[in-house]
This record gives sequence, C-alpha cells and structure tokens, in this order.
Amino acid sequence: MSRASRLPNHVSPDLADVFAHIDARRQTFIDRLIDYVRHPSISAHGLGIAEVADLLVTMLNGLGLDARAAPTAGWPMVLARRNDAPGAPTVLLYGHYDVQPPEPLEAWTTPPFEPTIREGRLYARGVGDNKGQHFAQLLTLESLLACRGQLPCNVIVLLEGEEEVGSPHIAEFIRAHHDELNADLVITADGPVHESGQSCIVFGVRGVISFELRARGANRDLHSGNFGGLAPNPLWTLVHLLGTLKNEHGEITIDGFYDNVKAATELERAALARLPLDVGAMKAELGIAELDAPRERPYFERTMFWPTLTINGLHGGYGGPGSKTVLPHEAVAKCDIRLVEAQSAEAIFAKVEAHVRRHAPEVEFIRQGGMEPSKTPLESPFTEPIRRGLLAAQGAEPLLIPSAGGSLPDYVFTKILGVPAFGVPYANADEANHAPNENLELDRFIAGIKTGAAMLSYLGAMKRL
Ligand SMILES: [Zn+2]
Repeated sequence: MSRASRLPNHVSPDLADVFAHIDARRQTFIDRLIDYVRHPSISAHGLGIAEVADLLVTMLNGLGLDARAAPTAGWPMVLARRNDAPGAPTVLLYGHYDVQPPEPLEAWTTPPFEPTIREGRLYARGVGDNKGQHFAQLLTLESLLACRGQLPCNVIVLLEGEEEVGSPHIAEFIRAHHDELNADLVITADGPVHESGQSCIVFGVRGVISFELRARGANRDLHSGNFGGLAPNPLWTLVHLLGTLKNEHGEITIDGFYDNVKAATELERAALARLPLDVGAMKAELGIAELDAPRERPYFERTMFWPTLTINGLHGGYGGPGSKTVLPHEAVAKCDIRLVEAQSAEAIFAKVEAHVRRHAPEVEFIRQGGMEPSKTPLESPFTEPIRRGLLAAQGAEPLLIPSAGGSLPDYVFTKILGVPAFGVPYANADEANHAPNENLELDRFIAGIKTGAAMLSYLGAMKRL
C-alpha cells in the first residue's frame, strides 16, 4: 500500500486563517505583481535579466529564505532554501523569471511592460509565463510565514533565467548542484490549466528528437527527358526510404522502436476517462474527417502513451507555378519523433540511423536537437496530498493528466535529480503565452497563492505518518 493511501482523512490542515490572510491582501498582492511584471527580463535579448534576478534574491532573503543568484554559463539561477520541518518532505518549487520577446508590439492593446487590468485580467508580457505563477508561489511562502511563522515543509526555490531560450544550462546546473538540490519532489506552476478551465496535475511530458535526411543525385539539376532513367532521383530515394519508416496501419517500422514502451496503467486509464473530450468537435475544428491511423487507438493515449514519427517537410526540385521538367540533384526531409517514457533520445537516434544505413546507405542522416521524456507515476505518494491541496484551495477535483503531448525539460528533475515532478498550472487556458496580449485572470492568481499554501500544508502533514 502506498504511503499516500495511508494518509488519514483527519489530517486535513486547517487553512482558514491562511486563506483569509490571502483574501485580505488581494489588492496588495495584485499591486505587487504589477510592479514585478513591469520589469522586462527578456533572455533572448539579455534585457533586464540580471536586475530581475537581483530583485528576486532580495525578496526571497526578505522572506527569511537563504537565497542567492547562482551563476551558470548563461544567466543565473535564483536559488533559495528554508528548512523548517525536519521529517517533512522537501519540495522544490521550479519556475522561470525570463520572458519571451514581446514583438509584434503593434498587436498589443496596451504595451507589454505597462501592466494593465481589463475585465479581471492583468495584461503584461510574462504575467502568465511564468512570472505571475512563480510570484504566486513566493506569496504562498510569505503568507504561510506571516500566519504560522514557519513553513509546513522544507522548501527549495529554483527560478531559471533561460527557460524561454531552451534551458541550455539547467541539466548541467542540476548535475553540479545535485547534493544541494536534495528535494523529495518538484512542483512547477507553469502553462495553462486544462482547456475546459478545470485545474489539473500534469505528471509528464513526451520527449523529442529532430533529424534531417539528405539525398543527393547528380552534381546539378538535370533535364528529365535527357537524363530521366539515367540519373537517380533523390526525391524518389527519400520517398522510398520514408515509406520504410512507417506503414499504412500507422505502425513505425524501425527495428526495436517500441522496445520498453508501456501501455497505460489502470490508474492512468481511469484518469484519462475523466478528461473532457469531444472528438467530433475537435475534428470539425481541424477540418479532418478521421483521426490518423491506427483508427482504434484511444484518443488521449495517442499523445500521452505512444511515440510518433512526423515528416515536418519534404523538399527538393521545383514547386513553383506551372510545370518544370526538372530532375532535382538534391532532396531533404525534416522529421521529428515524439518519445514516450522508457525511450531515450540517444537510443532512438541510433535505431533510426541504423535503419537508414540499412535501407538507403547513400542518404545522409543528420542528428539535430533532442530532449528526453519525463514521467512521474500517478501512484506517487505525493499525488494524494497535492490533489487534496488543490481540492481544498479551489473546491473542485483537479484533472490528472498522465502526460502532456509536447516536450519540456522535466527530465532534469525525474532523470537527473531522480525525484517525481508535478506540473500544477495556475494560468487560464487562454493566457496567450508567447503571444501578444498575454494575460492572467486575477482570480486564478489569488487561487494559485491559496493552492500553493494548501499543497505545502498537505505535503507537510505527511510527516505525521
Ligand atoms: Zn514560455
């Protein structure tokens, strides 16, 4: 039996005073969020990053955490810690203080760094992704300390300054600071809640690898009448090669590709069954008659439990108006593979490369970027206190999402640090992250502060077992 399922029902931390404290400070907290997001921190341009890191270190030290800006080969990590609860779990709260560039500026109703409230939402670059969400986490710590004088569990805060440029140094940082980052679990408040508006807990992400296949024919483009049938056509070479990678039943036919791929567990299937779904509306919205093969595969399992091979582009020869009877000298296919847990980027790169060597040795295989998948089991002992924290703060059961379809570097926590990682997003589904008019619903911001307090309190209650 898991530790969580033994969590006695009567261990329900009384949070009324903390919630009342947060409600009483609603306006102050919103004003302080406005001050925070007014500071640009654009990692892609190096604008304002060091200033915002300093501001966070000052705030965290002011709260009584032991905080510093820890250098990396790029922008610093803001790292802080407070150990108030021996025997209770240590929670690492991860977020990122850098933001996307705001362009195109003319598409913003109000300027991106002049935060403005309209209809219950605060509009500013970074307010959802991710400043408003980690600021809520910091206000959680402040509120708990104001009401109780101490935190219910041990807390490490890790705020990255390079997430929006692909987190180039976080893996190295986690390896180098492995002992200092001795958390029992990671909680990230980033991204939007489920598109239905319901809160959720996200347990994983798919990984990804990208590669290019490059085929060459003659040393120049040729006349298809004079040379067709004589010189090989690199576009046909690629079409045949691509045809050996996946069959018409939707099965990827690379040797060993599905090794170790695991089916959804009973608990995961039960969670999937609770997710809102309208396949008809989704097909109508996309203008498609059928889902991709294999037809019988359950909807959510497609993006959470199965890897995919996507041809992103196939290029060569002539694509302009009318016709041109050319025999192209070169053709390129760009592809990506979304990886599921138990696949690794390196192993799949090697399997695809071996396949290409065997079927079309003359085709060049070029590895591009890769990111590992990540998965935390729903059975984790920390799932139950986190779920109960969300329920206590928001009055509704959160959806449990076994995996996001996309890719984020969560593997640095689950695979390098070796601890479970949970995504608990606070932002509205239409936060417009990375886009003009990024916004955060203020009710969700305040609910996020309460949610953090409840999650940490329920996690802290585990020590009483
Ligand atoms: Zn982002």
